[in-house]
Amino acid sequence: MREVINKYPRLLHGGDYNPEQWLDSPQVLEEDIRLMKEARVNCVSLGIFSWARLEPEEGEFHFGWIRRIIDKLYENGIYTILATPTGAMPNWMTAKYEEVRQMSPEGVRNLPGRRHNFCYTSPIMRKKMKKINHELSRHLGDHPGVILWHISNEYGGNGSDASCHCPQCQQAFREWLKEKYKTLDNLNHAWWTAFWSHTYTDWSQIHSPVPNGESRLHGLNLDWKRFVSHQIQDFCMEEIRAVLKYSVLPVTTNMMEYFKPLDYFRFAPQLSIISWDNYPEWHSQKDEVNVAVRTAAWHSMMRSLKKAPFLMMESTPSIVNWKAVNTQKRPGLHELSSLQAVACGSNSVQYFQWRKSRGSSEKFHGAVVDHRNGSNTRVFREVSALGSRMEQISDTVYPTCNRPKAAIVFDWENWWAVEDIEGPRKDMAYQDTILAHFKPFWEMGIDVDFVNEDCDLQGYRLVAAPLNYLYKKGYAKKVKDYVEAGGCYVATYFSGVVDETDLCILDRHPLEELLGIRTEEMDAAPEHRVNSIGFEGKSYKTGCLREISHVIPGEGAEVLASYESDYYAGCPALTRKSYGSGRAYYLACETEEAFLKALYAGLAEENGIGTEFTGRLPYGVTVSHREGGQDLWFVQNFNEAETQMELPGTYARVEDGMELKGSITLKPFECLILAAK
Ligand SMILES: [Zn+2]
Repeated sequence: MREVINKYPRLLHGGDYNPEQWLDSPQVLEEDIRLMKEARVNCVSLGIFSWARLEPEEGEFHFGWIRRIIDKLYENGIYTILATPTGAMPNWMTAKYEEVRQMSPEGVRNLPGRRHNFCYTSPIMRKKMKKINHELSRHLGDHPGVILWHISNEYGGNGSDASCHCPQCQQAFREWLKEKYKTLDNLNHAWWTAFWSHTYTDWSQIHSPVPNGESRLHGLNLDWKRFVSHQIQDFCMEEIRAVLKYSVLPVTTNMMEYFKPLDYFRFAPQLSIISWDNYPEWHSQKDEVNVAVRTAAWHSMMRSLKKAPFLMMESTPSIVNWKAVNTQKRPGLHELSSLQAVACGSNSVQYFQWRKSRGSSEKFHGAVVDHRNGSNTRVFREVSALGSRMEQISDTVYPTCNRPKAAIVFDWENWWAVEDIEGPRKDMAYQDTILAHFKPFWEMGIDVDFVNEDCDLQGYRLVAAPLNYLYKKGYAKKVKDYVEAGGCYVATYFSGVVDETDLCILDRHPLEELLGIRTEEMDAAPEHRVNSIGFEGKSYKTGCLREISHVIPGEGAEVLASYESDYYAGCPALTRKSYGSGRAYYLACETEEAFLKALYAGLAEENGIGTEFTGRLPYGVTVSHREGGQDLWFVQNFNEAETQMELPGTYARVEDGMELKGSITLKPFECLILAAK
């Protein structure tokens, strides 16, 4: 495995540290170091919101205070992830330079305040960013205690859709479009502007999609989303170049879960290591399974972006403060929730935040150190216990990573397009559909990667592409080559409908030859119009989205399941066709969970992707597999109850080498880390 964080190749445990709020309380800073050692913290993130302390007046820089803190941490064995401070702008800047503040879709310029809300096009913002990043890098970029650059913070998290609609962004959008389409004729065709007579005759007529203007040209909407993602990615790249002027450290930026505005697949190549902020809604449902599935999926996405270990850069040790109801993690869940990240490929458990701030927006956000009681809290004790465990497992776990044999296609451009649809139904839920297809693998204890349409599919034995509405140029050929070479591909309803500018693909489905089916109707049935499909002798309920398709005679598709009623009774609901050395499946409708479970259990067996735990896991228990050094199994019990299970072999517990085999009892919320013997 290629080493990324050379200076400290260990599992990291720590979190965001905001000493800039306590500079007038030196005793607090002393206490912090002592408590960090007690909690087995080996790494903190510094400087995320420090711009006003680092540059209190324009052009006046103060690095002494932060250097002294980094020195002190380093002397005590605690490393620093150093942030560039662009997450929040200082008041002197927002007051003096109006253009750095974002403009809303309605054309209203923000007033100073809040965070993550700078205009990513503004030349002044870029100039100020470069200056502070250069200075930061020049002063601290070679400090022996600094191991990684944390570029900005949660890019795009402005509380809406990340976009800025100011005149400079409009102009940059037009330039971006000129580069892409070359001529207005090309653009008018791609966006199908003859519809409603909205043909553009001059580039200056183009405006971002807004509620009181153009918003019904799907090609415009899609290109605007691409532009916003691109522009923020470009800003990130400029930040990276600025810090690397005086430093050779690796770089990351902390991503957010299921964050629709930014295409993280495009960000990944410019980062040394992926990191993200993980805030699951534990205790929001009758049990923890669906939240665990959703969280595992997003950890898997982060691992998939570089097919490498990632960092969980933030998580709360207790509660968050930004949901309507913020519930404490119940005893034991903190350790499981943290080790779930490690199980899925994280090489860190980092928190937001180390110490609770005394005032302002996040004063009640969970922290390792509370306002009162210091370390004499349940939360602190659970964090310390986890810190000790991380130290025990680090040598064994660090050199390993998950290597899945199955992948699910998750493509941001498809996400933007399919949820902008004005078709059979408007509220297309792409994420939920993806999770419905991910869950059976989680239940079987099979790790899954995510790929987008640009990724290489070779190397996976099974690729499922649910609700893959938009096909990029070359994607259909890639899928055919993949199946021909022996891969197994699952296509579903509402796939291959439009091309990459959201124009409908005419005549034939791009995979018609591969699938051997032809679709005649797309439907979104009302709830009372129930239907079902028959599969392997059982009947399963369908969901709302259904396609009515026909097998093309003589093309070789076999029908494995059919609709059981209505005017399309007998039409295929699941087909399979052999193609080259592989097989292609087509699923015509949404179905109940039990059907997907049966389908993927069969496909796991057919393609040999099951693990030794598959078929043996009780409800609420899953395993993840990290390999490379030793063969490691993370057995995770998301039940808040003791749970019996049968181990499929003999294992050694990583922490102490204790041998485990046969029937075992998992404690509530326990995570066992087992090495194959
Ligand atoms: Zn702007």
